[in-house]
Amino acid sequence: MDSLVLNAPAKINLALQVQKLREDGFHELKMIMQSISLADKIKLSKSSEGISLSSSSNELPLDNSNLAFKAAESFFSANQVEGGVEIYLEKNIPIAAGLAGGSADAAAVMRGLYKLFELEEQTAKVKSLLAQLGSDIPYCLHGGTVYATGRGEVLEQLPELDKKHLLVVTPAVKLATPTVYKQYDNLAAESEFNFEAILKNLKFEEKVNWSLDYKNDLQPAAESLCPQIKEVEELLKESGAEFTLLSGSGPSVFAVYPLAKQAEQAAKNWPRKTDFITAAETIPSY
Ligand code: ATP
Repeated sequence: MDSLVLNAPAKINLALQVQKLREDGFHELKMIMQSISLADKIKLSKSSEGISLSSSSNELPLDNSNLAFKAAESFFSANQVEGGVEIYLEKNIPIAAGLAGGSADAAAVMRGLYKLFELEEQTAKVKSLLAQLGSDIPYCLHGGTVYATGRGEVLEQLPELDKKHLLVVTPAVKLATPTVYKQYDNLAAESEFNFEAILKNLKFEEKVNWSLDYKNDLQPAAESLCPQIKEVEELLKESGAEFTLLSGSGPSVFAVYPLAKQAEQAAKNWPRKTDFITAAETIPSY
């Protein structure tokens, strides 16, 4: 095999609870992660030596500050293989949007390189390499519906959800994750929702019960930095969504609709022309 193409799916958070601040400056988290059909596409081709990266996006660096590049560096430093790789990144996931696009790319590059060079995937080794690059990357290796703790790298697979029809709306504002956490600390609000009840719902019951308080503790902080989030959420509710929430540190908001055609209709009629908007669905682990 000389080349291969992979999907790098985005994630949303069905719930996110912020716990205590650790000595290393990161917060402990409890999150429900869910992968969705919105995805970057990555083509990997064997080359004679080194790593090269090109992309459809002109907003991203193409050097070793790109997470896709970093993942390839980790792969080659951990494995003795002949040759190098050319990476092409078709960027479809909005950048710095709370959808873990960079993490998805890094995880897909790592999965792909193991396939391309026909090596057995050494899961523990790969996961510890990837966790050093970013907290969401270990999750992005397999995706699906997952309960994540620690900084997001301690993972427990949950039963697969029945397919949910979504609209993902990203206002044209980039929110850096550390800035949102800083604002969260400034606001000093206590989490008030019952994460255990949500976990129980997803583990033991067949249907997601949205009337439980599925929440994201980062939402007030993100809204105070980006007031458009509130406006987007209100519009999504008016368009017939049964549930809406901020994803990760934002500014993306996702909405769940009973029917796919309702999501498509809402996308078609969306009034805020500067937003990135896409109909998507939840996907199982890959
Ligand atoms: P998360 O939800 O994991 O916090 P995010 O969706 O908010 O992530 P990303 O799109 O992953 O944010 O990008 C975060 C930062 O990483 C950006 O500032 C971007 O410049 C940098 N970055 C590096 N490599 C990539 C990549 N391949 N794709 C997207 N961003 C990248």
